[in-house]
Amino acid sequence: MSTAKPRTERAAEARVIATRIEAEGVDGVIVGWVDNAGVTRVKTVPVRALEAAAQWGVGAAPCFDAFLVDDSLAPGGSPVGDLRLVPDLAGLHRLAAQPGWAWAPGDRYTQHGEPHSGCQRQFARRTAEALAERGLAVLAGIEVEWIVDGGESGPAYGMRRLIGHSDYLRDLLRALREQQLTVLQLHPEYTEGQFELSVAPAGPVAAADAALLVRQTVQAVSLRHGLHASFAPVTEPGGVGNGGHLHLSLWRDGHNLGHGGSGPHGLTREAEAFLAGVLAELPALLALGAPSVASYLRLVPGRWSGPHRCWGLENREAALRLITGSVPEQANAEIKCFDAAANPYLAIGGVLAAGLAGLGRALHLPAETTGDPDGAAERLPDSLDRAVDALRKSEVLRDAMGEQLWRSVIDVREAEIARFADRTPEQIVEAVRYRY
Ligand code: GLU
Ligand code: MG
Repeated sequence: MSTAKPRTERAAEARVIATRIEAEGVDGVIVGWVDNAGVTRVKTVPVRALEAAAQWGVGAAPCFDAFLVDDSLAPGGSPVGDLRLVPDLAGLHRLAAQPGWAWAPGDRYTQHGEPHSGCQRQFARRTAEALAERGLAVLAGIEVEWIVDGGESGPAYGMRRLIGHSDYLRDLLRALREQQLTVLQLHPEYTEGQFELSVAPAGPVAAADAALLVRQTVQAVSLRHGLHASFAPVTEPGGVGNGGHLHLSLWRDGHNLGHGGSGPHGLTREAEAFLAGVLAELPALLALGAPSVASYLRLVPGRWSGPHRCWGLENREAALRLITGSVPEQANAEIKCFDAAANPYLAIGGVLAAGLAGLGRALHLPAETTGDPDGAAERLPDSLDRAVDALRKSEVLRDAMGEQLWRSVIDVREAEIARFADRTPEQIVEAVRYRY
């Protein structure tokens, strides 16, 4: 990772990149990170200051760790101190729908150059490295769903809806291609104005970066077409939600461990133990992957949002859907209960940590749920309160996240629960519709 390189090396690399992108018309570079509430925050520098930003980082107050979705602060968010936000040059992209701008994901360091213990992106990287130490790798991908207001009406997955938004969706495909993102699929989703897009899987940190880049690009292209994109878990109480399903596969020596094994549906023992670990921690993981009070307006039976703590082959109502597909090397598991309010680095880091714990304990999957889980399987927490309670009790996540990150996530969740306690579902949806 380039941010782990010595400062002088980062500066030298940035100098070369800055010269190139300035010649390509870039004036400003955005350094982005996602806070504990799931909101993407940014600092920017002019292209000629990229070298200094890569070398020393850009100032970012530590109180960002206490920010809530509505920009108020959880108790204890101190106004004192500073951190350095360092662009990861390996993830820098020129933004096709924001001419003159480039974007790079940032890692946060202390002023002395040590990793900030509350840095969510470095948490994801640490867990990926812990897997690598066991000779394992994960490929991940986050599906992005969104709803635009004023969207063309028509049937779910309907051709009418595609025709109504041909130019918009074409511009989106083009922008993503120009940004070197490989789109796998794009389609009109279930409800009016709703779409879904998936990109090729990548390593855990790169997959989270890609999810952000996709979301930002969707938002920028939408605005150019006079549309406002919402990634909120729900945009209307009682309506279909926007998921942020996380797909993952576990690999050793270039082989996908999701097939050819002796476990259920050909899972190898390692893949089974990993997934069993995820299932074991799923109630606590919800506090990372479905982190908003609004997430629980989406997480109800009958919406393909995976509100039950169970797994099943191609079971779209199970929280953990196993996909063997027709190409064995593409076998993967999909965590359906997560949404786009999640900080993707926290969600992925948490899942890898849970999987590692499952491997450590050589866990087995429970019996498969083959039909509709409603009434047949345990419900996952049905409120943020309950999910946070599970996170408080999770030794696995506490150890993996480290005390500071774990604590600050819980503080933010508790503060959002208190903030929204008296609000109606309508008011909650209104408050988060255009925040993520
Ligand atoms: N929109 C659904 C959700 O809230 C998911 C639909 C699908 O399976 O793609 O997760
Ligand atoms: Mg979908």
